[in-house]
Amino acid sequence: MPKQKISILGSTGSIGVSTLDVIARHPDRYEVFALTAHTQVDKLFLQCQQFQPQYAVLSTPELASVLQERLTLHGISTIALYGAQALCDVATATECDAVMAAIVGAAGLPSSLAAAQAGKRILLANKESLVMSGQIFMDAIAKSGAVLLPIDSEHNAIFQCLPGSYGRKIEHSGISKIILTASGGPFLNRAVETLNDVTPDQAVAHPNWVMGRKISVDSATMMNKGLEVIEAHWLFGAPADQIGVLIHPQSVVHSMVSYVDGSVLAQMGNPDMRTPIAFGLAFPERINSGVASLDLTKFSQLHFRQPDFQRFPCLGLAYQALRTGGSAATILNAANEIAVEAFLAGRLGFRQIESVIEECLNQISSVSLNDLAAILEVDGQARRHALSIVSQVGVQ
Ligand code: NAD
Ligand code: MG
Repeated sequence: MPKQKISILGSTGSIGVSTLDVIARHPDRYEVFALTAHTQVDKLFLQCQQFQPQYAVLSTPELASVLQERLTLHGISTIALYGAQALCDVATATECDAVMAAIVGAAGLPSSLAAAQAGKRILLANKESLVMSGQIFMDAIAKSGAVLLPIDSEHNAIFQCLPGSYGRKIEHSGISKIILTASGGPFLNRAVETLNDVTPDQAVAHPNWVMGRKISVDSATMMNKGLEVIEAHWLFGAPADQIGVLIHPQSVVHSMVSYVDGSVLAQMGNPDMRTPIAFGLAFPERINSGVASLDLTKFSQLHFRQPDFQRFPCLGLAYQALRTGGSAATILNAANEIAVEAFLAGRLGFRQIESVIEECLNQISSVSLNDLAAILEVDGQARRHALSIVSQVGVQ
């Protein structure tokens, strides 16, 4: 069997590193075609040394030339490229069979959409792509015949619990509800009135998962689950009313599908992203991911409860944006990215994240979106609006 050539967009991040860990276990099956990073030259160089990709992409020409010099000095044949177009090029190259889309945030949209249009096998971790441009993204997949495999653990779990023939038509499937589980993050039980005092370090200290800083803050506000509700809507063709969220602090049940006959199918495992990554790489086969099998006897109890929308207003805002439709989810995502960045930089209190997003949703009207240019336009407008709110209400 010829080896699958993989481009890993965002290879220096948490998902990127886990993907390389799985790939390194299966040198007979996979070969790295391209690796990409924003600014982490040192880490990208070490990855190039180990995996010898054809291309490595960084964000600026200066960084790419630093990398190129070092590669040449060490006799490594990898070619260093830079910029947004290079990300799209390595995602769509004829030689590339599969793309791991693991850039964080809106920066990941053009390259993951390009992979969708080019008919690649896409392992989608970058949920923001679907939140910003769900209809356009899914239309591109349908048109090109690309294979879309969800890597987000909840959506991967749901994918595993759906019938093999599921065609995004929930009304004929016997499914009553898709249930996303959520750990509740580090502030599940903290006194609500003290939430605005939390520091960035406290917010990124997730109890069960080790992740990048942005998604860790999203988990603390539960915006992550809100983005995932919207992601599930697009991936599985389910309306907001048929997507539920259950708090499950142990993160053992990764999500569930409830059927009309009373059956509930769940996927379980240790909380380690290498499981959904290995699933995506090998589908429909199964390969070793390096994750130990789940020992249920270690858990005396598994807990489930309804989420508290007062404690986690971001979750409600995401449902609101999904129900509004049009560009509301694009606005929600952009405002969230700006607010989280400001919070991480110490310019915004934790509870002000939700206020910035709410104001943006209330003050910018939703319009219909027909192409990438329209999405980027709304994204830019919402970012500017969010920034102006941050400068008014933020910490001086
Ligand atoms: P991370 O911050 O650890 O890594 C992000 C990667 O994107 C890095 O390689 C970085 O260099 C690159 N990047 C950042 N900004 C960029 C830019 N402007 N241009 C080009 N590249 C850029 O993030 P992560 O935790 O690995 O998450 C990546 C994506 O996967 C996110 O969309 C996240 O929501 C999703 N996801 C992550 C996890 C997880 O466990 N970490 C789980 C589910 C979904
Ligand atoms: Mg998730």
